[in-house]
Amino acid sequence: MVVDSIRIHTADWIVPINRPPIRRGGVAVDRGAIIATGEIPRLQQQFPTARILKHLRAVLMPALINAHIHLELSHLATLAADSPDTSFTGWITRLIDLRNQLGAQGEEAEQAALRTCLQQDRTGVGVMADIGNTGIGRQLAAVFPGQLFPFREYLGLHAQTLDKNLFRLEREPESHLCSGHAPYSTHPRLLRRLKERAVALDQVFPIHTAEPAAEGEMIRQGRGEMADFIRRRGLWDNSFVPTGRGGSIHYLRDLDLLDSRTLCIHAIHVADEEIRLMAGEGVKVCLCPGSNQFLGTGRAPVRRYLDHGILPALGTDSLASNPELSLWREMRLLAEHHPEVEPAEIVTMATLGGAAALGVDHRYGSLETGKKADFLAVPIVDGLVVDSDEQVYRFLVTRVGADPERIRD
Ligand SMILES: [Zn+2]
Repeated sequence: MVVDSIRIHTADWIVPINRPPIRRGGVAVDRGAIIATGEIPRLQQQFPTARILKHLRAVLMPALINAHIHLELSHLATLAADSPDTSFTGWITRLIDLRNQLGAQGEEAEQAALRTCLQQDRTGVGVMADIGNTGIGRQLAAVFPGQLFPFREYLGLHAQTLDKNLFRLEREPESHLCSGHAPYSTHPRLLRRLKERAVALDQVFPIHTAEPAAEGEMIRQGRGEMADFIRRRGLWDNSFVPTGRGGSIHYLRDLDLLDSRTLCIHAIHVADEEIRLMAGEGVKVCLCPGSNQFLGTGRAPVRRYLDHGILPALGTDSLASNPELSLWREMRLLAEHHPEVEPAEIVTMATLGGAAALGVDHRYGSLETGKKADFLAVPIVDGLVVDSDEQVYRFLVTRVGADPERIRD
C-alpha cells in the first residue's frame, strides 16, 4: 500500500510573506519541503489524498530569523536587569568587568547560553546568527545543526594585537565563520583581511556598525567618548587614522568592506548619502531595537532603509544589553518606535529580511514552494477579532501570550 506522504496544514490565516495573507488557507508539505500554499479547497483538489492537519484559531507563518545574538553573554544578564544609567562606554566597562569576574567560559556561561538557545527555539526562531569570542557558539551549533550560525568575532585596534589576530585568522578552518567587532574596536587591516576571507569563502560578514553616535566622531576626528575610552584603556596607538569626513559606512566603503554579504548590525547613525551607498552595494542591515532602547544609542532610520529598497533583518543582541531576547518583542518595539512603518513590513523583516541577511532565503523567510517545512502556528488570543490582512499583521507584531507551535514536518 502506498501511503501519501503529503500533509496539508490548515489555519484561519496563512501569512506566506511573499504574497498577501490567505484567509482559511493551508500549507501543503511533503518530505520536509513546502510544495504549495493556498486556499483550502484548491489545495484539497490539488492533493486529494493528503492528510489534513487543522490548526484551530491560529496563523501560520514562517519561522523567525534572529540575525544577531551573543549567546555566550547570557550569563551576564544582570547588566540589562535594570536601567543602565551610564554611557555606552560605561556599559562596555561594566560588561568587561563582570565578564572578568564571572569568566567568559565555563559551566555557568555554557548553561546560560544553552538556555537562551532553547528559549529562542521555543519562541519560534528558525535560524540565529551568533557572535562570540569563545567556543560556546560553535559547541551549541553542533547541538542545533542548521539552526545556529556561530561567528567567531575578531577585535583589537592596537598594532600589537594585529599580527596575533592575523596569524590566528589564517589558521581558522574554512568552515568557520568569522566577523569583525566594530570599526572603533578592530584594526582596519584586520577588518580588510576578515572581509577578504569571507568573500573567498562566500560567507556572510557581520560587523557592528554605527551603534553609538561616538563611533562617527571617532572616525571623523579621532575625538569624543569612544576615542577617549580607547585612549584611557591604552589602546590608541595611531593604528586608526581619522578620516576627517563621513561616517561609519564611508569608512567601511573605503576599506572595501561593503557588498551584499556584509551585514551591518545596529546601523543607527547613518546618513542618507550612506544609505544610498549601502543600497547600491546591496549591503544588509540588522536592527536591534531592544538593545538600542536599553543602551540609549538611538533609533535606526528604518523608514529610510525601506524607502531605499533595503529590507532590514532583526536581532535581539544579547542579555547583557537587552532584558528579554524575543523577536516578538523586537517587532513590537519597532512598531511602537516607528509608527511610519507598516506591520506587514515589520513581519517581513523578522522573517525574509533575516533569511536574506544570513543567506538562507532559499530555505527560510517565506512559505513558498521548495522552502523548508519549518514554520509556526501562532495561536490567536481568545476573543480577538482578526478579520483583515492589516489586522493579521498587526496581531503578529503586537501579540503577547502563548508560544507559537513549531511545525517541522
Ligand atoms: Zn552585538
